[in-house]
Amino acid sequence: MGVRPHVVIVGAGFGGLAVARSLDRHPVEVTLIDRNNFTTFQPLLYQVATAGLNAADVAHPIRGLFHRQRNLRVLMGEVTGIDWQRREVLLAEHQPVPFDHLVLAMGAVATWFGVPGAAEHAVPLYTLEDAVEVRNHVVSRFEAADADPSLVDRGELNFVVVGGGPTGVEMAGALAELFAVVFKRDYPTLGVGRARVVLVETQDRVLAPFHPASQRAALDALRARQVEVRLEETVDEVTPDHVRFASGEVLPARTVIWAAGVRAHPVARAMGLPTTASGRVEVAADLSVPGPSGRGTEKHVREGVWAVGDVAAPHAKRGSGGVLPQLAPVAMQTGAHVARQIGRLAEGKATQPFRFHDKGTMATIGRRAAIAELPGRIRLHGTLAWLAWLGLHILYLAGVRNRASVLLNWAWGYLTWDRGPRIILRRGAAPGPVMTTERAKTAVDNTSS
Ligand SMILES: Cc1cc2nc3c(=O)[nH]c(=O)nc-3n(C[C@H](O)[C@H](O)[C@H](O)COP(=O)(O)OP(=O)(O)OC[C@H]3O[C@@H](n4cnc5c(N)ncnc54)[C@H](O)[C@@H]3O)c2cc1C
Repeated sequence: MGVRPHVVIVGAGFGGLAVARSLDRHPVEVTLIDRNNFTTFQPLLYQVATAGLNAADVAHPIRGLFHRQRNLRVLMGEVTGIDWQRREVLLAEHQPVPFDHLVLAMGAVATWFGVPGAAEHAVPLYTLEDAVEVRNHVVSRFEAADADPSLVDRGELNFVVVGGGPTGVEMAGALAELFAVVFKRDYPTLGVGRARVVLVETQDRVLAPFHPASQRAALDALRARQVEVRLEETVDEVTPDHVRFASGEVLPARTVIWAAGVRAHPVARAMGLPTTASGRVEVAADLSVPGPSGRGTEKHVREGVWAVGDVAAPHAKRGSGGVLPQLAPVAMQTGAHVARQIGRLAEGKATQPFRFHDKGTMATIGRRAAIAELPGRIRLHGTLAWLAWLGLHILYLAGVRNRASVLLNWAWGYLTWDRGPRIILRRGAAPGPVMTTERAKTAVDNTSS
């Protein structure tokens, strides 16, 4: 038997994990590289940020997922580039790793749209560290206001969420519930009703990809929770203590949560790969990355290179539709497809085009309030959608322990109207008012935070 092809996967998110798992039993050797030793379940980050779940509930050690997969090795390291001539992955702190197949699955990063001050003073919600930072910061604002209530007049309890997509809507709804249900009891003399959650959306509706009826249901649910939804409004500037809107209004606020959009991981463009305007790697119908055209041997340096998930720009099916959205089902399906193609090539077969199977989209606004759009034009709102949302998220969480813990937390929260870890984690001095100063200090507790 000859040497088995070496598949290197960069990124252990939804896409990378799908590739890795699906390569079990294929005649290949796999190296799965991630800069973290854990994988993050991003759809529940907002619950960590709003003290609904522990940080460790939405993360899972990568090695723990592959105890039984003999053909796979996990490597913790930051990928910095590719040596295309030598066909090696370059890492910040380790020796280069050679590959026969390379699967790029590095996900996305926040995009600031060039808004002055946003990168410095707003916080995105993309990593576990971001979520813990938001939680630290939000709880700290209430502690500060409780100690000195005059701060409320200067915007201490104004919370601005930028972006009316699923992340912004979920974040705004969860913040409003946290304040009205839990902080009302935690800070009984503060007058928590003075806290404001302001959701800002450039378009004239929230949840743009959803049906208008779902958008209206989401808007009603947000407004019922006292979220101030500002449609057709844009944030023009973020400073440590205020936000300036395009309309000219200046709102004092020390907390700006950035949920306005993502772009593909910049390392993809730095690798010299063909990318779309938003930096997503262009892929062929089978999800392979096309090589440079018409330059002799140069053409072959990118053979066996694939891209999946948020970093890629796959189409729903060959020659039709736009680029698929950056969502977990797309990442999982593209990942599984690439694994199958690598398996086919190992067997000497031709590759097949990718076809996306849409199983629906969901978003939750809060307790018994969600929207779900399923195949066959089925639209659910309210409790039924919320139960479907809960079930699906439990199903897709990595690890039995995490599933049990999340279920228990949710059941506890539902029955007692209580929340979990309203804990301020910090190293050194007390968190200051500017989010960026905290970012450097934030420590993520992987056990019980
Ligand atoms: C707050 C939030 C809420 C969301 N909610 C939903 C939802 O409700 N439903 C839904 O379908 N989708 C949701 N999404 C989108 C979904 O999470 C993404 O589409 C999905 O995670 C993409 O998977 P991926 O594997 O491409 O990237 P990711 O899951 O982001 O994984 C990328 C991995 O690559 C690693 N990595 C990055 N750069 C490097 C490097 N240079 N070297 C080594 N490793 C690296 C990262 O550490 C990470 O583990 C949400 C996203 C966010 C941020």
